[in-house]
Amino acid sequence: MASGISSRTKICGIFGCPLEHSFSPAMQNAAFKAAGLDYIYLPFVVAPGQLVVAVEAIRTLGLAGVNVTIPHKEAALSLLDELSGEARLIGAVNTIVNRAGRLYGDNTDGRGFLRSLKEEAAFIPAGKTALILGAGGAARAVAAQLALAGVKKLILSNRSSRRAVDLAGYIAKNTGVKAQTAPWPENKSETLPGALLQEADLVVQATSIGMHRSNLRNGPILRGGFAGGEKNILQTVPLPFHLFRTGQVAYDLVYNPLETVFLKKAGQAGAVTVSGLGMLLYQGALSFEMWTGEPAPVEVMKKALQKECYSKG
Ligand code: NDP
Repeated sequence: MASGISSRTKICGIFGCPLEHSFSPAMQNAAFKAAGLDYIYLPFVVAPGQLVVAVEAIRTLGLAGVNVTIPHKEAALSLLDELSGEARLIGAVNTIVNRAGRLYGDNTDGRGFLRSLKEEAAFIPAGKTALILGAGGAARAVAAQLALAGVKKLILSNRSSRRAVDLAGYIAKNTGVKAQTAPWPENKSETLPGALLQEADLVVQATSIGMHRSNLRNGPILRGGFAGGEKNILQTVPLPFHLFRTGQVAYDLVYNPLETVFLKKAGQAGAVTVSGLGMLLYQGALSFEMWTGEPAPVEVMKKALQKECYSKG
């Protein structure tokens, strides 16, 4: 906000439940302030079952736009007037823009991931092979966006193998990109085959393993069914980490803590490491740009996110 709130102040926000641990209000309000825009960003706790009236309220109250998060990302899809290609392919919406009463739905998660890969690891996916661990909502956004960006091949592995098989089939059918699956090791002492890790130019950790318990409590644990509790941040995915090589990129979608066990181990073996904070930052920057039409003050947003991470971590 440039000055005090008035009837001219444009209102953005986030629809989700719960929102206690969302970093988006701090990031977006810092951005509006730095850009000198008369905007404000508010958390709107929208209970399951209340999404239809909440979306209608965007029109009624004249909100400029909102982000949508758990548990509403998929359900929002059918409530909007127009959708981007990404939102349709991913099957979820994370950004709604109010265009004079017509609601446009987009998904900036995948594009945020790509922009962060480019900015933080100078990685361009075209022609490359990516190994993705996980098959939940975030893995779906990443897999779809990598396919749109022209990867040569995707390898998907997930604890519930059915979800990985379904996602691989969906991506191959809808984008034409080769997508294979690899079984998740059943035994705790086993890892995924080293050859798969070595084949990949990019390895994406897209499960909620390694995430701080404060996020787990209010986030994917509700759907993912993880029961790791306090020890979760000490855990990681079953990979032969010593086989990571120099130049390979290891990306963890988890952003709290900033350095997960996955990133630490991959980095020690020589990989370039990227934290999920980058994806969170750039998906937010893209939403900001859609609502305001102005370039996002990325550095300010990054600082606000880091501050949130340290205070809520
Ligand atoms: P979902 O609940 O949709 O999926 C959770 C995934 O984690 C599933 O693949 C699930 O496997 C797997 N998983 C959970 N616990 C375990 C375990 N103990 N062992 C093996 N696999 C496990 O969550 P999301 O896809 O929305 O989120 C996944 C992660 O990505 C979270 O940490 C989230 O914070 C992060 N994220 C980061 C974003 C960013 O901007 N950086 C954006 C969105 C998410 P299964 O299918 O077998 O249950």
